[in-house]
Amino acid sequence: MTDSPKPLTTALVVAHPGHELLVYHWVEKHHPIYCCLTDGSGGWATSRLSSTSRLLDTVGASIGPIYGRYPDTLVYRLLLDGRVDVFVALARELAAALAQADVDCVVGDAIEGFNPVHDVCRLIVNGAVAILRGQTGREVRNYEFLLDGPPDVDGPGSVVVRLDETALERKLAAAREYTEMRAEIEAALGRYGRQAFAMECLRPAATTSPVSRFEQAPPDYERYGERRVKEGRYFEIIRYRDHVRPVAEAIAAALDEPHQAVLEALSDGSTTSSDSALTGAGRPSSHLTSS
Ligand SMILES: [Zn+2]
Repeated sequence: MTDSPKPLTTALVVAHPGHELLVYHWVEKHHPIYCCLTDGSGGWATSRLSSTSRLLDTVGASIGPIYGRYPDTLVYRLLLDGRVDVFVALARELAAALAQADVDCVVGDAIEGFNPVHDVCRLIVNGAVAILRGQTGREVRNYEFLLDGPPDVDGPGSVVVRLDETALERKLAAAREYTEMRAEIEAALGRYGRQAFAMECLRPAATTSPVSRFEQAPPDYERYGERRVKEGRYFEIIRYRDHVRPVAEAIAAALDEPHQAVLEALSDGSTTSSDSALTGAGRPSSHLTSS
């Protein structure tokens, strides 16, 4: 399948500012509403939000309601402290924002076991899309892209955006201007080669137990954490079983509950398309019909 010709109302939802560089040409074409969970400050660095704001401005994408909500260290703390309620609330908030904007296609990080916040971001996106589908019966497309894995490997049902030389040069120039990401970008170019980034593969997001693969083999972020603890740089390790799986379970458990913010977003009468989502085809839930 090639890039869809139909204009979509899109959203890009990522864990960290800078991820948008991987899907730069898709962003140029679709002007998504952009959300990122953290400010990209990592363990000790400063916020990357100003670089992302500049990039979004250049390509005509808009900043969404969740934009660098937390420093990374606070997200690690929330995970370590078992504050699953915060992540459930984020899934609900995102669902309401997607409903309000009448989004019909969401793109975000994939689960790779590379960084726990990337994986949690995907759980939040899947939760938000499931809430939206459940409350409205609307079909919302849900795609993921790799941050750590090869960028040019597609699969069944993928949307593939191909870049010509001019588009690739624009993308690499944007990456060069994003100075806080320089080391990561150079490492990625060294690993996969320049031409790999001339293809942007959006794969349909895995929706069934997307993190369950880590039941058998621990994700890489645990091994990385163990190394850091040995080096004396970390004192605690974020683990799949203790910290990430509970988020997946809490979001799954919340899907059947009423989602007042989503209903309010849909019933405020601000757009006719929201109204049509309420009355259109699908399977409106009792929450919808009683509102
Ligand atoms: Zn990241």
